[in-house]
Amino acid sequence: MRVLVVEDDQTLGVFLQKGLMLEGHDVDLVGDGDAALELAAQQTPDLMVLDLGLPRRDGTDVLGVMRQEFQGTAILVLTGRSAVQERVRCLDLGADDFVLKPFSFHELMARCRALLRRRERFADPVLRFGGVAMNRMERTVFYDGVRIDLTTKEFTLMEFLMLKRGSCCSRAELLTQAWHSTPETDTNIIDVYINYLRKKLSAVHPEEISVESAIETVRGSGYRLRDRRKIPRLEKPAEETSLADDALQPIELARGA
Ligand code: CA
Repeated sequence: MRVLVVEDDQTLGVFLQKGLMLEGHDVDLVGDGDAALELAAQQTPDLMVLDLGLPRRDGTDVLGVMRQEFQGTAILVLTGRSAVQERVRCLDLGADDFVLKPFSFHELMARCRALLRRRERFADPVLRFGGVAMNRMERTVFYDGVRIDLTTKEFTLMEFLMLKRGSCCSRAELLTQAWHSTPETDTNIIDVYINYLRKKLSAVHPEEISVESAIETVRGSGYRLRDRRKIPRLEKPAEETSLADDALQPIELARGA
């Protein structure tokens, strides 16, 4: 699972990050509210562990924006503010749970596990975009109804492209997702894996000339998924294209002719 820790106390933040990583999660750490929303928009975390007292943008403000724009992310609030009104306000704003500082590390981890389990039970495991349906629980991928087998890395890359829903993903972002590497590392490996993905996707549509039809290169930036169904089909005769959605019409046309 993808977890975003938002904590300006660096020592505590790193401690939480390491603890959650030991539980097998991909964990990012940011120290202010603006960075939290920026990274959440890029990664759509499964869980956000959110401190309330933050520089640049207060935690309650982050919570409000998260609940409006990223309903799928579970949010656990860390707060040193013990006033009952403050806790009520957090729950009203949409926090899923909160822990009062100072807290027991084991209790915090148990609460994180509970939130992630709950999220897993209720989340729709299927991502859909541009003719691709990806089941994240069963780890299956169908492209226009045809099953395609992906390796673990290919699946992770495809999942990230799907989560971005047609927005550009930079090579550095893809590298971080699939290899947990820093952007300084050679990013050619991304191009290699994108080509593997393209070959597997284009095998479903051998009539298409370009293997780039499903994953488009954004020059100088990265890659994005393309919704093929929105691309006009120039290869078919005009009358066939306009009638493609209605199987009955060719018969009526034939009668009329
Ligand atoms: Ca703080």
